[in-house]
Amino acid sequence: MERQAIVSYQTPSGQTVKIIKHSFLSIRRWPVKRVAFVAGLHGNELEGIYLCHLLTRHLRGLQASQPEAFKGEVHIYPAINPQAIATGNRLWPFFSVDMNRLLGGENGKSLPAQIAGALLDDLKSSANIVVDFHASNLHLNEVPQIRIIDGFHKKLIPLAVHCNTDLVWVHPPSPVFESTLGYNLNRAKVRALIVESGTCLRLNCDFANSLFNGMLNLLYQTGVLVPAEPPPPVEHPLMVQPSQVALLQSAHAGLFVGHTKLRQHVRKGDTLGEVIDPADGGLLQKVTAPETGFLFTLREHPLVYPGSPLARIAIKETDLL
Ligand SMILES: [Zn+2]
Repeated sequence: MERQAIVSYQTPSGQTVKIIKHSFLSIRRWPVKRVAFVAGLHGNELEGIYLCHLLTRHLRGLQASQPEAFKGEVHIYPAINPQAIATGNRLWPFFSVDMNRLLGGENGKSLPAQIAGALLDDLKSSANIVVDFHASNLHLNEVPQIRIIDGFHKKLIPLAVHCNTDLVWVHPPSPVFESTLGYNLNRAKVRALIVESGTCLRLNCDFANSLFNGMLNLLYQTGVLVPAEPPPPVEHPLMVQPSQVALLQSAHAGLFVGHTKLRQHVRKGDTLGEVIDPADGGLLQKVTAPETGFLFTLREHPLVYPGSPLARIAIKETDLL
């Protein structure tokens, strides 16, 4: 394994901060393909950082015992926003900017904008395929899923099906995506998958293990990693578009109390939870499944206001190719 700082910078008190990349090179002079894993763009999303640890540990062992398995290259960027990670914050500290909204336009010369640009350039020169790991905010818990912007789906779905996520969700294009890392990589013809899993500031080992198996399978299916024993086969994900997703929202301010578990099939009318009035002891809203389907988002934060999302159910599947 090679370890390299793609960027380093100085803090005002003189400490050096490095953004690290771990590389597993190919035994071939011309690698089959080059895959990169990125985590920690948002410093409070820890699932991907843990996943990079699992991948690095596994690949180090494999490289020691079966170097011939590496037909392609793997690059791991485990902590892209190190100072935000150090304090568990989403945004780049001091500037308070979102590192995943700094690309594709005029973003000035601030330190985070320079580093976002350097990361994009490094990925473009290092990888044909990128997987960028994210988690949800404090409010929601999400099953492992891949989010794809409509228009890139024909190139991305054939890769996404190998990743062992429960769901692949194709969204219509929106200007809000245009400054993200994933969008700009796809625009530059580097195929980038955006994984969303769990909730921020927490780890879910079941989800991380599913994604770990999925990433090994992606490396195997793309010919990058061909070990003596192939990884276990993975399930095909559900494919949905927004019209096939039922969003449940709170109609009141109060406390949401969940009465169900995420990552399961629910039937129309099943109780998912309730919104209660903590002050006078009343029941404000019984939350039931509006349709039969797969429960893939569930509220984690109990405080709700009118319109707060409570759950999402995938109610139909589609053939997107
Ligand atoms: Zn994120």
